[in-house]
Amino acid sequence: MIKDYRRALVYVVPYWRRLLLVLFISLFSTILSLAQPYIAKLLIDDALLRRNWQALVLVAALMVIVTVIGFVLSILASYQYTAVSADVLFEMRLAVYEHLQKLSPRFLARTKLGDIVSRINNDVAEIQRVAADTLLALVGNIVFLLGSVAIMVWLNWRLFLLSIALVPMAVVVLRRFQNRLSDQIKQMRERSAEIGSFLIETLIGMRLVVTSTAEAREVNRFRARNRSFIDAMLSMQLTSFFSGALPGTILTLSTAAVFLFGGKLVIEGAMTIGALVAFMAYHLRLLTPVQSCFGLYTNLMTARVSLRRVFELLDTPVDVRESTNAKPLEAVQESIEFEGVIFRHDRDNLVLDEVSFQIPAGKICAIVGPSGAGKSTIADLLLRFYDPEVGTVRLDGHDARALRLHDLRRTVALVDQVPFLLNASIAENIAYARPEALPEDIIAAAQAAAIHDFIEGLPDGYATQVGERGLTLSAGERQRIAIARALLRQPSVIVLDEPTSALDPLTEQSLTTTLSTLLKGRTAIIITHRMSLVEIADLVIVLERGKVSQIGTPQELLKHNGALATMFSVA
Ligand code: ADP
Repeated sequence: MIKDYRRALVYVVPYWRRLLLVLFISLFSTILSLAQPYIAKLLIDDALLRRNWQALVLVAALMVIVTVIGFVLSILASYQYTAVSADVLFEMRLAVYEHLQKLSPRFLARTKLGDIVSRINNDVAEIQRVAADTLLALVGNIVFLLGSVAIMVWLNWRLFLLSIALVPMAVVVLRRFQNRLSDQIKQMRERSAEIGSFLIETLIGMRLVVTSTAEAREVNRFRARNRSFIDAMLSMQLTSFFSGALPGTILTLSTAAVFLFGGKLVIEGAMTIGALVAFMAYHLRLLTPVQSCFGLYTNLMTARVSLRRVFELLDTPVDVRESTNAKPLEAVQESIEFEGVIFRHDRDNLVLDEVSFQIPAGKICAIVGPSGAGKSTIADLLLRFYDPEVGTVRLDGHDARALRLHDLRRTVALVDQVPFLLNASIAENIAYARPEALPEDIIAAAQAAAIHDFIEGLPDGYATQVGERGLTLSAGERQRIAIARALLRQPSVIVLDEPTSALDPLTEQSLTTTLSTLLKGRTAIIITHRMSLVEIADLVIVLERGKVSQIGTPQELLKHNGALATMFSVA
């Protein structure tokens, strides 16, 4: 437990000044609240029993001053504390978010989105709740406890020993519940994350759900997940209740003992009434911080589960790191080269098997081959989403691993097969990688991607909002917007992953013609299944089961009765 919190300290340290101030204020307000029962003793012993009017007025005034100042200070402390803890926790969220940006697509493909969201949202919020609610209380409580104990021992040490006699028993009972509680909290978190994942998955796949008439089945799955969350929550609540209430109940027994023994002392004249009243007040108020320290333990356990879930994300290893003295890259002027590249996602899933080829700068290269041959993986390696297990990817002779990541990704623009559109205007979508682009540049890029006329035809033109995840556009329109987005960046190398796969034959023909003029003289890699795109290439690489089976100009390869010829004679 301490290890997890020590690690969290990294986020706290930069805020130590503000925290120290908060602690100081809260310390002061605790000291003031410690004085209150003592004021009651002064009231009884010095004012009431001695019938001293002056003392009475003084004590009353003292009471008001102490209470008001204490109240103001405690509000100030908790407000400040909430503000600092919110800042600290945002730093933690930010760290996770920045780490996620560094992880490979493999991680995102394997991890449920709902689970990640729930860790960043719910778990961090839970840590924040515990931090805001209880950590400040802990400091106050400990100071209050120590102060109360000191005053109680001073008032009557025998009575004090009696009043705490049952504390060890309460602690033993509490411990019995702690481990069970920690497991149950973890279970509850996981089930809540499952609901999130379920919702995200079925909302994204709503078309599939409806077209498969699986609505009722999904409702039942939703119900079952909800049920299992509620079950976990209820058993957690029960344990939490017992772990809080039982020790408290045991401690209450000691209150009765203090009544009896303290009363006896007063009746025998061994203690003043004021001292007993003050003692009782300290004793009763002792229960609150003790109980709240018990509750605090529970809270710290909950927060630890959350902390661990957040740290788990932060500990996901990054596949690709920038080397310490990475070299800059302006543009690719000579070539792109794969040399003996071996890559696998899992131990027994060889995706690329000693792939070697060289694409001279300024040439269009088509990569063809059956689905699953590893074509998209070549693009992923070029952009360094992954690094090869063996072999090297080179740009102008530089190992991609030695280059600045930012430069590499600015130089090579990738248009994914299923491009992602943001919930923003078309213009903003095209200009995503170059937000400062001028409207005429955006239009020129759209014209080049053969999508300008379509955009002009929309009621709001370039200002048309694309719905969340671009659902209001057809796949072909999305693809062309993504091509415009890549062209606007005027990248040195452009990689198009099946750019015409979603187009009708007519649009495909028009885009192919556009691409052939547009890409002339540029370094381009086109992953494709289309003969028309193969024909505009200077170089064709045929990939089969992770191996390069043919390489050459389209004319050469089609002349021979090789893989390419077979592929397209069948098609
Ligand atoms: P292509 O683009 O030629 O259709 P890919 O490069 O997309 O092929 O995929 C090559 C192989 O790698 C396929 O067998 C695919 O199942 C596998 N693959 C792709 N992405 C992942 C991943 N994130 N985890 C595991 N295997 C993957």
